[in-house]
Amino acid sequence: MALMAHRVTLIPGDGIGPELAEATRRVLDATGVAFEWEVVEAGEACIAEHGTPLPEYVLDSIRRNAIALKGPITTPVGEGFRSVNVTLRQALNLYANLRPARSIRGLETRYEDVDLVIVRENTEDLYAGIEHMVGPDAAESIKIITRAASERIARYAFDYAVANHRHKVTAVHKANIMKLSDGLFLESCRHVAAAYAGQIEFEDRIVDNMCMQLVQNPSQFDVLVLPNLYGDIVSDLCAGLVGGLGVAPGANIGMDSAVFEPVHGSAPKYAGQDRANPTAMILSGVLMLRHLGYVAVADGVETVIRDVIAEGATVTHDLGGTAGTREFADAIVRRLEAAPAVAASAE
Ligand code: NAD
Repeated sequence: MALMAHRVTLIPGDGIGPELAEATRRVLDATGVAFEWEVVEAGEACIAEHGTPLPEYVLDSIRRNAIALKGPITTPVGEGFRSVNVTLRQALNLYANLRPARSIRGLETRYEDVDLVIVRENTEDLYAGIEHMVGPDAAESIKIITRAASERIARYAFDYAVANHRHKVTAVHKANIMKLSDGLFLESCRHVAAAYAGQIEFEDRIVDNMCMQLVQNPSQFDVLVLPNLYGDIVSDLCAGLVGGLGVAPGANIGMDSAVFEPVHGSAPKYAGQDRANPTAMILSGVLMLRHLGYVAVADGVETVIRDVIAEGATVTHDLGGTAGTREFADAIVRRLEAAPAVAASAE
């Protein structure tokens, strides 16, 4: 018996977002899982009509459906509106940002065996947005780290490690310099780690050393847990290890809702050119399938994506090919439609 359709909020976003969202929707529909897409606009296009890039109806839709798939949204640098992405994560308390980075056969990268999972705290740190000028020539940003949020993200990382048969969690910090704030983050991770002793290994690294070691020898790491800002930076580094931002998916998970989105931004220079790589957003859709419990379907879609990239005939420009966004999605959709096992397991 077919299950009821999953109602999902779909936010196409800015720049390359709408093309990627369309490609992702077609791939997910081709799995046979029943989705009902509630398309809501957020970002630059909303400002003229609603006076804000994040109208309340967007948050209402996500609260109602408890699940969203989101394209990237432009944030002006320096002035103007606060980041829609950060506001959304904070407003919905999407406290865990999950960013897997796994090597894909066929992509020219320095390593072939990278398999990392970045767990980034998503609600506080310097992203709390508490900034002010101190006179005309100095500015201050306040970094917030709490025990509650640090222990919560550490528990998420350890629970993820257990559920996904991972063996080690590495906490990343700069507690040698920020002894109180990063010190509290590290202390919280150590406290949580004690409850998993004998089951999941725990270690910590100072963030600068971590970056160097990730570039030199990434396979020594497994699951990483980081405060917000280091998590943002280190996850882009990890994306670079496996083929770039075009292939890096993400998920923002909260107690009540979850928003799935690629790591990359709106890449405005490629907007409307059918040139951007939809892999990161499609893989974010794969994370959404897993979240909904369609583990076999998710594995099937991921295998198809990896096969298409490994074969190399239909890959986008960032991966050295000539395929357009739509053509790449077509190649995946064709294979899914020809593989009834994937669709059938959705029932
Ligand atoms: P970006 O990720 O948009 O682009 C950086 C470069 O990465 C691009 O020039 C392009 O070469 C490459 N790239 C990114 N995605 C790609 C894809 N799918 N296919 C092929 N190449 C791809 O980063 P940026 O230029 O720093 O940011 C642009 C805008 O996006 C900014 O306004 C920023 O605030 C916003 N942003 C949004 C999110 C989000 O919505 N979650 C995340 C990051 C940045």
